[in-house]
Amino acid sequence: MKPRTFLELAYFGIKTVILRRQEPLMGSIILTDRCNLSCRHCAVGNITSVIYPYIQIKADMEKMYSDGIRILFLYGGEPFLWQVHGITLRDLVIEAKRMGFLLVNIVTNGTFRLDVPEADLIMVSLDGGRENHNYIRGDTYDTILENITDSISDNICLYMAINNINKRDIETVCQTAKSLPNVKAISFNFHTPYPGTEGLMLTREERKDCCDQIEGLIGEGYPIFNLRSAFPYIIDNSFRTPCHQCIVMENGKMWTCGRCIEIPNLCSQCGFFFAAEFSLVFSGHVSVIFDMLRTYLRYL
Ligand code: SF4
Ligand code: SF4
Repeated sequence: MKPRTFLELAYFGIKTVILRRQEPLMGSIILTDRCNLSCRHCAVGNITSVIYPYIQIKADMEKMYSDGIRILFLYGGEPFLWQVHGITLRDLVIEAKRMGFLLVNIVTNGTFRLDVPEADLIMVSLDGGRENHNYIRGDTYDTILENITDSISDNICLYMAINNINKRDIETVCQTAKSLPNVKAISFNFHTPYPGTEGLMLTREERKDCCDQIEGLIGEGYPIFNLRSAFPYIIDNSFRTPCHQCIVMENGKMWTCGRCIEIPNLCSQCGFFFAAEFSLVFSGHVSVIFDMLRTYLRYL
C-alpha cells in the first residue's frame, strides 16, 4: 500500500471512530447483473441482464468520490461482460484511479482473462477444490486456474463463499492460493441465505469449526485476507449491521451496506466478512483495528 493511501485511510478511520461518524469509505458499483454462469448459491445474476451505460457508471463513480468514498469495488453479475462502445472494465479501473480512488478492486468469476494490472486486487471466486467448485459453479475450475496462471499481474485474491457443500475444502483452497504465483491471498465469506438458497447455510457450530480452521491456517502462514479478531462476532452474527461505511450503487440507486439490506432479517444471518470487519473497525474495536492494519499492509 502506498504511504499516501495508508495515511488517508488511517485519517478517515481515526475521524470516524473518535467523532462516531457514519460517512462511507467503501463503495461497490454493479456494472451489470448479466452473467455467463448460473451458480447454485446465486440470487443476483441475470435478473435483468442489462449492461448499464458508461455515462451512468461514470456518474456513480463521481457521486461516490464526492461523498468521500476512496475504496471502490466493481462487480456484477460478471463485470468482465461489461463493455460499452469499446470502453472496457480495464478502462473503468484506469478512470477510477485517475479520479482519485485510492484502492480499486474487481470481483469476478474468473472465467475471462484477468489482465487488469491497474486494479489493486482482482477477487476471483473459487468455491472449493475442483469437484465441489464445479458442482456449485459449473465446469469452470480449470478455466479459472488457467486464467490466473496466464494473468499478466499478481494482483489476484481468491474469494471463497463457504457453504455446507464446500465447508471441508478450506485447506485445499488455501493450498491452491499458496501454489499460484499470481495469487496474493485468499478471502473467505460464509454463505448468506438469500431467499431460495437457505439450504446452503452453515449452522453456528459449522461456522465456528470453519473459523477455528481458518485461524489455524493463518497461524501456519497461509496468505489469508481475513481478520481473525473478528471471527467471534462473525460466528455469532453479533456485529452491528448495517455497516454505514459501505455502500452499493446500481444504475444510480444507492444502498447502505448492500442491496441485501432490503431483504427482511437477512442482516442477522449475514455471511459477508467485509461487512463484519468494517463494522467492527469503525465501531472502535481496538484488536480488530490492529488486525486490519497488519493484514491490509501485508496484502495491499
Ligand atoms: S458468477 Fe456471481 S453473479 Fe454469476 S451466477 Fe455465479 S454468483 Fe451469480
Ligand atoms: S446482509 Fe445486511 S449486513 Fe450483510 S452485507 Fe447485506 S446489508 Fe450488509
